[in-house]
Amino acid sequence: PEIIEHLRVEHELLNVSFNTWIKPLKVYDVIDDTAYILVNKDSSVEYIDKKYRLPLMVCIAEITGKEYEIQFVSEDDDKLNEIHNASIDNGQKKKTKSLAEKAGLNPKYTFDTFVVGGNNNFAHAASLAVAESPGEVYNPLFLYGGVGLGKTHLMHSIAHFILDKNPKKKVLYVTSETFTNELIDALRNGKTAGNESAMLNFRDKYRNIDVLLIDDIQFIIGKESTQEEFFHTFNHLHTLGKQIIISSDKPPKDIETLESRLRTRFEWGLIADISSPDYETRMAILQKKIELDHLEKYNIKNDVLDYIAANVKSNIRELEGSLNKLIALYKLNNNNNPIDIALAAEALKDIISSDNRREVTPELILDIVADHFGITVADLKSKKRDSEIAVPRQICMYLMRTMTDTALKGIGAVLGGKDHSTVKYGVEKIAKDIESDEMMANTINIIKKKINPA
Ligand code: ADP
Ligand code: MG
Repeated sequence: PEIIEHLRVEHELLNVSFNTWIKPLKVYDVIDDTAYILVNKDSSVEYIDKKYRLPLMVCIAEITGKEYEIQFVSEDDDKLNEIHNASIDNGQKKKTKSLAEKAGLNPKYTFDTFVVGGNNNFAHAASLAVAESPGEVYNPLFLYGGVGLGKTHLMHSIAHFILDKNPKKKVLYVTSETFTNELIDALRNGKTAGNESAMLNFRDKYRNIDVLLIDDIQFIIGKESTQEEFFHTFNHLHTLGKQIIISSDKPPKDIETLESRLRTRFEWGLIADISSPDYETRMAILQKKIELDHLEKYNIKNDVLDYIAANVKSNIRELEGSLNKLIALYKLNNNNNPIDIALAAEALKDIISSDNRREVTPELILDIVADHFGITVADLKSKKRDSEIAVPRQICMYLMRTMTDTALKGIGAVLGGKDHSTVKYGVEKIAKDIESDEMMANTINIIKKKINPA
């Protein structure tokens, strides 16, 4: 009703048009990004579609903050059944996904999709053992290894495995950034009158579980209050025999800012490293990706895969990225050029050099920020204004301004053509937030560490 009223006011509709065409419309269902609008069987779907689709889309976007496609369906259309069934399917999908989703897990990161090689077989075996008997074999399990080598993938695999076998287990996966920011939030809210329970809620969340997975613990860096709280969380869970799994880019003994009492605790259980994959494992990972992403239709020849595997050595994310880029380039050329070594060389151009050169460029910042927030570079360059995209975009502006020599105008260009004043506003906004908001300061700190690892 709100949307319909908005439409009347905004578009100054004549009462008679309004009463005839708009008032009888009802939202039938919303599936993904499409709103299905039910049209009275005496009205003309074609006419309404032609005349009111765009205004209605705009109104819905203004009111909900989200853009929906609109489809008008007549009351007596057979399509209604189809939509109804799609809606049920959709609801079921959401339901079955929700357990793993609640635990913050990527459905693609399971043991089934993990390729075992000489570089990770120990970590894999240890993870599997822990997944089979949580709390009973190695506690904590500490996984460490460089960027993009599969730590997060293994951790999610453990969590999926445990939940699949026993949906009642309380499994919580978080990054150390989330842990830190939730703690900051609880401490801050706890100071507000009427909200003294904020800290209790925080403790309840982290102590009332069977399995805790904390990813990238190296980012609990030099924060005393966080380390202190984590220490107590750890002790609480460990005493009760609950499983703790930790990942880091370095072994505990090499994390300089780690308090020694935490270091000691981390060394109680099993420490397993993941190193760079050898050539055979890299080939196997490429094959697996082709299978999982249904890329067989591109018929990529072995010499091309071989070229990629031979050149991208130290980061599996980049290995996968090269294959994606190759296919993107192929499509971009309207499938005219064959997928051959020349095209692969083109795809690898940026990637190979980034292995040794790691000059901080706006493009590097784009990649790292997108990855950090789990969004795409295209999102960052887009015009989307929801905060899940707009805030990371402003963070890019701030980091590009403070970590590179790029001028405001250049930053705007890298971000898909934002004007100079938008960029200026973004940079200042984040700079201010860092001063006043400890969570933002923490996040920026972590992203900077990802851009410029020590
Ligand atoms: P990390 O957490 O160590 O930085 P991720 O777990 O995020 O690395 O892995 C980066 C990418 O590489 C992910 O897409 C992941 O699925 C993939 N990957 C890593 N190791 C393997 C493996 N052994 N088999 C298949 N895919 C892998
Ligand atoms: Mg990771």
